Amino acid sequence: MSELDENEIRHEVRAWLKAHWDPRLGLLEWRNTLVDSGWGMPHWPTEWHGRGLPVGMTPVVDDELAAVNAVSVAKSGIRLLAAATLLEHGSELHKEKFLRRILTGEDTWCQLFSEPGSGSDLAGATTRADFDGSNWIVNGQKVWTTSAHHAQWGLLLARTDWDVPKHQGLSYFVLDMSQPGVDVQPLKQMNGHASFNQVFITDAKIVPEYQVSATGNGWAVAMTTLAHERRGADGLRNAARARDLPGRIYEEERAELATVMEPYKWYPQRAGRIDLVVARATATGAAAQPDVRQAMAGALIMSRSAEWTARRARAAQQLGRPQGPEGSLGKLAASNVARACSHVHTLISGTDAMLSGPESPLGGVVAEILLSVPATSIAGGTDEVQRNIISERVLGMPKEPRFDTGPFRDVPKNVLS
Ligand SMILES: Cc1cc2nc3c(=O)[nH]c(=O)nc-3n(C[C@H](O)[C@H](O)[C@H](O)COP(=O)(O)OP(=O)(O)OC[C@H]3O[C@@H](n4cnc5c(N)ncnc54)[C@H](O)[C@@H]3O)c2cc1C
Repeated sequence: MSELDENEIRHEVRAWLKAHWDPRLGLLEWRNTLVDSGWGMPHWPTEWHGRGLPVGMTPVVDDELAAVNAVSVAKSGIRLLAAATLLEHGSELHKEKFLRRILTGEDTWCQLFSEPGSGSDLAGATTRADFDGSNWIVNGQKVWTTSAHHAQWGLLLARTDWDVPKHQGLSYFVLDMSQPGVDVQPLKQMNGHASFNQVFITDAKIVPEYQVSATGNGWAVAMTTLAHERRGADGLRNAARARDLPGRIYEEERAELATVMEPYKWYPQRAGRIDLVVARATATGAAAQPDVRQAMAGALIMSRSAEWTARRARAAQQLGRPQGPEGSLGKLAASNVARACSHVHTLISGTDAMLSGPESPLGGVVAEILLSVPATSIAGGTDEVQRNIISERVLGMPKEPRFDTGPFRDVPKNVLS
């Protein structure tokens, strides 16, 4: 899109905000107005709360909202993965029922994919859904389920056919998390937070209308969710920051973010906090040591080059080009940057890096970095799995040997089914 078009869009949003933005409105009332206008998600289709603009225009519109401190639609958390998946694969009923409430922030979502015996091997899921003639009946266990403790809806991958190869026997559903057969138990992490849960599902019901994929075609839909996750839902989580401004709408926004963003409080630390490195090395005098300077330079170079690669990927996306290798490299680069930062913070703080509490380095932030960085190499696909994807799909290397191509029932599993 040309600069002139961008200016036109800016002009149009500004005029619309001048006519409609009112900080005295309630959060829900304002968000409904924003959703109706299509400016909340301008790259979404016009029939579904958008304006059909190129995705590159969304930050431009967001800029204009931020310039007048206008509250945006709810863009944080797994709800956006749900929205992206339902926009692509959902029925009219799904879009009608769920999309608006995602954007107004009325509903939160979780992703019920990983299980104790299938994380990397997601297609090996053994949570089952059986059709009883009226409804799907779900039994099984999920784990690592971020935000399940306050989610109304879950994106569920479950096995519906045990007699075909594993990728062909899965189906994709929307699960009502508020029903009695869904038992959510929080898990405490080593960094002190409790972002994710284990979810025990016993005879939970799903009405046929809440089936998203065709029966047995759940894998393709799950791939859409994962592609959006790997493409950087984190960026959207980071964007949702509470504003310290007076007024009803800001109070309501702060209350919402306090709940919805609570599981993501430590996410900046898990990225390694490259932004703290230079100031901290200078303040502590560690920058005078050649080995620290060397490690700092390494981490900064890695971080900048990862950022530029991500920008190239975004530019290509804005020009409508298909996703290149940058998408696969980005996640791995983020792990490398996080680890390099964690190493530098350890060099700077020495053994004090292990201390937490107000008297410790940066009030415990350094310790939280060390304990949170490993999550970057696991969440949304581990480093090893990313390397497999890059070697097979980007570099065209031979595929891993497979021993699980027959009917799933006969495939050796590490859980009882
Ligand atoms: C912060 C965080 C949030 C998460 N949120 C969610 C969520 O909301 N919903 C959800 O469903 N899941 C979530 N997850 C789970 C995440 O997707 C899984 O942890 C991840 O896919 C890895 O699976 P696993 O933990 O079972 O590890 P495993 O698959 O058991 O892997 C163990 C080790 O074996 C290696 N390995 C496995 N297979 C291969 C292979 N083929 N080749 C080489 N090495 C291999 C792995 O790299 C790893 O080092 C979250 C995880 C984290 C850390």
